[in-house]
Amino acid sequence: ADCSNKIRRSQVITKISDVVRELVDNAIDANAHSVQILLDNYGLKKIEVKDNGHGIPHEDMYSLFQGGYTSKLHSDSHLSCDDKYGFRGEALSAICSFSGIVVTSKRQTDPAAKNFVLSKDGTVTSEKVVPCGNGTVFVVRDLFKDFPVRNKHSSEPKVAKTQLKDIEFYLKCLGICNPSIYFSLYHNGNLIWSKPAVKNTEQALTTVLGVGFAKNLSSCLSAEVFPDGNEKSWKGSLNLFVPQKPVDMKNMGFTSSKMTMIFVNRRLVVVDEYQNLIKRYAIGSADRPTQQEQRKFPLSVFMIDVPPSEVDFNRD
Ligand code: ADP
Ligand code: MG
Repeated sequence: ADCSNKIRRSQVITKISDVVRELVDNAIDANAHSVQILLDNYGLKKIEVKDNGHGIPHEDMYSLFQGGYTSKLHSDSHLSCDDKYGFRGEALSAICSFSGIVVTSKRQTDPAAKNFVLSKDGTVTSEKVVPCGNGTVFVVRDLFKDFPVRNKHSSEPKVAKTQLKDIEFYLKCLGICNPSIYFSLYHNGNLIWSKPAVKNTEQALTTVLGVGFAKNLSSCLSAEVFPDGNEKSWKGSLNLFVPQKPVDMKNMGFTSSKMTMIFVNRRLVVVDEYQNLIKRYAIGSADRPTQQEQRKFPLSVFMIDVPPSEVDFNRD
């Protein structure tokens, strides 16, 4: 069992960006309004993720890193209001086995913040009271240090730089899907990217993709989704965003300018050129941008929301 646990963990975390994604997902799941990501040496030396979310009960620190612990599964899987990014309870134990973790947390009801040092097997080796506001700070040091192959691969300058780009792209996607959250990304003390808290998706698109975008949405439509024509099954929503002016897609790091992004329940599920998407998914004809619109407004963003019980993000 110990061995199979190790194998399972090693698959959750294979790259630096995996760690950042998991920690940031957790911060959002904790209803944070502000998420700060600080990397040293591309995250190999240090990854710090700071949030002002609801915090972690101090007594939970003793089970959190052992694997299979999650506070996010409920028996009643209702509509997207309690839709979370995490659900497997695997990430923290996996990150722990590959690095040195120190976590500080304070809930609103806690008299003081506490700081916990974890060992590789997920046990708490020390705890102390420290000054810190409400929320949680994860510090992950020396990722993959004891894993020569992954360490060597991740340290290659080209790989490390690509990882940083991937992290930035992932955060931008989260920024689009989570308008009310303030994000900032620092590398070696320098601000790489940030996004203020805004009111809605249009504003989030504008701040993330650059001015000239969604300020005057030329097309924003909603549709109700009834699979199999059976109205009783479930209801979702589809929003399509097409910019007023052509957007410089370098903001998202795309080389092609004709991109379409499809988000399902606040997750980016596909990004590709629109023509390829039609070929691959035979997107319905009614409300999609016409070829002319595609040429004029090369970027389009689809936001699809369905009940969490109707999607399985473990499957491709
Ligand atoms: P999952 O996200 O699938 O539940 P994780 O291993 O990522 O599994 O996290 C385990 C648990 O730790 C979460 O269910 C949550 O209760 C708690 N947790 C992790 N990070 C945070 C955070 N930043 N704020 C509050 N709780 C957190
Ligand atoms: Mg998680």
